[in-house]
Amino acid sequence: MSTAESESPDVVLIGAGIMSATLGSVLKELEPALDVVMFETLQDCAQESSQAWNNAGTGHAANCELDVAKEDWGLAEYLIGQVLQTGSHQLKVLEQFYPEAQRQDWREAVAGQRVQIIKPGPHHSGSLEFGTEVVGSTDNSIVALLGASPGASTAAYIAFETLEKCFAKERAGGWRDRLMTIIPTYGIDLTKDAAATRETRAQTAAVLGLTNV
Ligand SMILES: Cc1cc2nc3c(=O)[nH]c(=O)nc-3n(C[C@H](O)[C@H](O)[C@H](O)COP(=O)(O)OP(=O)(O)OC[C@H]3O[C@@H](n4cnc5c(N)ncnc54)[C@H](O)[C@@H]3O)c2cc1C
Repeated sequence: MSTAESESPDVVLIGAGIMSATLGSVLKELEPALDVVMFETLQDCAQESSQAWNNAGTGHAANCELDVAKEDWGLAEYLIGQVLQTGSHQLKVLEQFYPEAQRQDWREAVAGQRVQIIKPGPHHSGSLEFGTEVVGSTDNSIVALLGASPGASTAAYIAFETLEKCFAKERAGGWRDRLMTIIPTYGIDLTKDAAATRETRAQTAAVLGLTNV
């Protein structure tokens, strides 16, 4: 990755966290000649969310939610319902996946704060979004990540979504074959292709030294 001042870089990455690092690495892997420049306001890389000791920066959405709720009762009802969830609600959800579940065998644990973002809707009120979204300008020459804390585990997925948005022409050309070499499951839906899933799980387990179940 270029750290030198560049007059006209091919790609500019703002922020030196895991997202930019992943996208930059994939781009250089695909096209080593690309001039990729990364800007960071802090002294070093990965000092914000990608720094293991920092808070993930989620939350603070309550005021925003109240503002939307006054115009969208369905949303307000949903949010209140979520706050009022009890152990028996959670057991009902669990029973959808594991019908034999018995209340006394299960213990609740706080898993963390779910990120919620509210996207503007057509009539001022918004819709609640839980995920992270790659938003772009009309020609996709500028894209940004919308969402409080996408999760480091989504970095590869987001890098590929960005490639699809911003480098559709290159991807349709030589990049697609290269991507399939780097990631053998690229373009395969592992939720539908059972044979590919089994093969991938076996390979992954072998590399990580795990028992393939
Ligand atoms: C303690 C902790 C545990 C976590 N656990 C998990 C986990 O188990 N699994 C998981 O998937 N995720 C986890 N996460 C979340 C994950 O770390 C973040 O979602 C991810 O790091 C976000 O990466 P990012 O590159 O988008 O943002 P960041 O790492 O925050 O990087 C953004 C960078 O942009 C810079 N910047 C901002 N504005 C500008 C500007 N104008 N110009 C230049 N630079 C700018 C910032 O200084 C920063 O360095 C955890 C986070 C923390 C903190």
